[in-house]
Amino acid sequence: MTTENTPTSSTEAIKHTPMMQQYLALKADHPDKLLFYRMGDFYELFYGDAEKAARLMDITLTARGQSAGQPIPMAGIPYHAAEQYLAKLVKLGESVAICEQVGDPATSKGPVERKVMRVVTPGTLTDAALLDDKKDNLLLAVLPLKGKLGLAWLSLASGRFSLLETRIDHLLSELERLRPAEILMPEDLDISLLQQTGAPTKRLPVWHFDEKAAHRQLCKHFGTQDLAGYGAEELTLSVGAAGALLQYARSTQGSELPHVQGLNVETRGQYVELDAATRRNLELTETIRGEPAPTLASIMDSCVTSMGSRLLRHWLHHPLRDRQKLAHRHLAIEALIDSGKLTSVRQQLKSIVDIERIVSRIALRSARPRDLSGLRDSLRGLTSLTPLLDGIDAPLIAELARHLQPPADVLALLVAAILPEPATLIRDGGVINQGYSPDLDELRNIQNNCDEFLLALEARERERTGIATLKVEYNRVHGFYIEVSKAQSDNVPDDYRRRQTLKNAERYITPELKTFEDKALSAQDRSLALEKQLYEAVLDALQPHLANLQLLAQAVAGLDVLASFAERADALGWRKPEFVEDHIIQIEEGRHPVVEAQVDHFISNGTSLSLLRKLLLITGPNMGGKSTYMRQTALIVLMAHVGAFVPATSTRLGPIDRIFTRIGASDDLAGGRSTFMVEMTETANILHNATEHSLVLMDEVGRGTSTFDGLALAYAIVRQLVDKNRSYTLFATHYFELTRLAQDYPQIANVHLDAVEHKDTVVFLHALKDGPASQSYGLAVAQLAGVPGSVIRVARRHLQQLEAMSIGAGGPQADMFAMQALEDLPEPAAPASEALRYLDDIQPDELSPRQALELLYELKKKREADLDE
Ligand code: ADP
Repeated sequence: MTTENTPTSSTEAIKHTPMMQQYLALKADHPDKLLFYRMGDFYELFYGDAEKAARLMDITLTARGQSAGQPIPMAGIPYHAAEQYLAKLVKLGESVAICEQVGDPATSKGPVERKVMRVVTPGTLTDAALLDDKKDNLLLAVLPLKGKLGLAWLSLASGRFSLLETRIDHLLSELERLRPAEILMPEDLDISLLQQTGAPTKRLPVWHFDEKAAHRQLCKHFGTQDLAGYGAEELTLSVGAAGALLQYARSTQGSELPHVQGLNVETRGQYVELDAATRRNLELTETIRGEPAPTLASIMDSCVTSMGSRLLRHWLHHPLRDRQKLAHRHLAIEALIDSGKLTSVRQQLKSIVDIERIVSRIALRSARPRDLSGLRDSLRGLTSLTPLLDGIDAPLIAELARHLQPPADVLALLVAAILPEPATLIRDGGVINQGYSPDLDELRNIQNNCDEFLLALEARERERTGIATLKVEYNRVHGFYIEVSKAQSDNVPDDYRRRQTLKNAERYITPELKTFEDKALSAQDRSLALEKQLYEAVLDALQPHLANLQLLAQAVAGLDVLASFAERADALGWRKPEFVEDHIIQIEEGRHPVVEAQVDHFISNGTSLSLLRKLLLITGPNMGGKSTYMRQTALIVLMAHVGAFVPATSTRLGPIDRIFTRIGASDDLAGGRSTFMVEMTETANILHNATEHSLVLMDEVGRGTSTFDGLALAYAIVRQLVDKNRSYTLFATHYFELTRLAQDYPQIANVHLDAVEHKDTVVFLHALKDGPASQSYGLAVAQLAGVPGSVIRVARRHLQQLEAMSIGAGGPQADMFAMQALEDLPEPAAPASEALRYLDDIQPDELSPRQALELLYELKKKREADLDE
């Protein structure tokens, strides 16, 4: 809260100065926001706001006089630099209420009337300067109830408004997918649910989420009888959320949001599902560290418009299951490449401005002159783009081309109304085109042609009066006048009125000159006012075209993404994937698109999974390429479902419903979960939800706990995945013991990433081979990593001892505990002593001293548990 150190307006206000009373009254309506209070050329912040702003924006904290007997802490920013400060504050999750002077200082008694004109919050940005071009900025409202979850989200800068109703346990994955900039929720909701997102949350009164009121409000907004046309009639929870959201967004803009033209209802089955961990692990649009590159998006995005870049990121997070739509995208890419026109299409697209966001600013009436000239030039550019598309033979391209026809009346209006290169701000004038308004032209003529007019008048009057020395002049005190020498003053016509008498001359004014004077002196003011009025009228005239322009913007974005996919495919040798009905994932010579860009020579590897070969147990040394291989498989599957070409010579994919990953160990310290807990939570999610059409990636499961626990868990998880989930699974492991499972399950195959030892070091070949790895090269890798030679020597000696000890027990990679033996063990009839059963499983010869000690502690614990029972 920013109010901590701010007095309240009611009780103490009496003692405050009138201005502070006004300030405090305004502040009381916006207690949770920073209030920018306009004073002349500055926005000032006071009290708690000033202290907070000084800290956040690194500006000076001063004091302004006194009110109620106390100095007033104050911090200010120049109004013309407000945008950069707003950007900073919003990035920090703050909201700002902007209060302007609305009264006339000249006529005001007491402080000028002031009003909060708009509220800037992280989720409701529309200013070009505050938005990231490449990212959608979403405001999300959540409404959970009895295990269900209603979601509604709005991109105010594009007008897209979406709903989804799902199960409450999908909340995290939806938050990860949508990455909202701001979240609205009912005030009685448990906030811990949302804490992980890091997005600022706003709690609203519960009644804002009332379904019936929301329904009424939405119908009124869209001008419809009900919401059935959007498929939202039954979605009571998300409709409730949408109502709260719409109300909030409107209040921040002080506008009706005419560009929000409909609801888009999503269902989860529509997309290949990616859970929260998978989106992070696959580094689709952000690296694990939160950087924008290197990621799949940074490799795939060669879009030439920001609308395209945003849509591409949206597509990456929304892989489709509708294979027909995907096939259309693939055909379009193929046709773009084959047409030979790809470069010229992209060249034409390049000059197109961010129509989507400009349309929103037109709707919100905050569009600036250069938005309109940019829109005009882009629409004009489209007239040369569409003919280029004519010869590109793909249904999707034809459909896009239809939407890319610029609306002729909009183009004509903008061409007529806006100067080729208008000024930045309408208040400076120089925006409306010549010839658009005769009145404006005349006002401008007066300003521009003042001298000319006066010379012409002088010539005419000399002729009319026959006085050759007559002069038309101007001074600041007396305005315009005609000066005639005293000697000639008897000859002036009747319509000359004396204005001033000098020693040797008389000065006159005529009705014509008087009219000109009035015009000239007020021309500047009037022309500015008229330009503003005309500009507003242009914005009005554009309102009926918002929906069409939005469609056009989407078509530009769609074409740009397809063209980017085509360009990437061409440049990087990506090929068209094929969707089949068979139960397979068949990839030939696949590559990891991101790693490939980073290494000199990437080794391609295939992936072959089918009903008969459902789980690959992947072994091999650290750094051998296991993670890369697994991720590349997931990325290829994902890229195919985004509609892009893929880095593989041939890809055939059966139906896929979800991609799960359990990769990498990271503590979720903020969420209070240890590495192992995170690992097991993600694993539990997979085991509960993966189906036979899911692709599951598991990397080193079980590493976060003791060897025995880990191995036992990994073993049981593999069996569950094969027996119950029957998912397509890539399972990388260090536990060589697991490789034996392939003997019992025909669906399990062993593969490994190859390496060879060369002299004292190890060379990774990165090539996938059949069968289990022969050794783990752990010491060689440690040496490569720079572990001191003395440590490596001790380790090597110790390894030899360990291996010598274990030879008797079954070979160099022998089990740490005999799994098969365990398997064969009859189930004990009754729960006998835990400690004794544990003891039965121990093979003393195979234990290192440290493991033996750990075991002893474990045994003791179990014995105590036995005694407790
Ligand atoms: P692991 O998971 O087995 O420890 P990684 O998959 O992390 O190994 O790979 C380690 C490094 O090896 C990668 O960062 C990359 O530089 C390189 N690498 C992996 N796979 C390949 C490949 N197929 N071709 C070329 N280099 C590769």
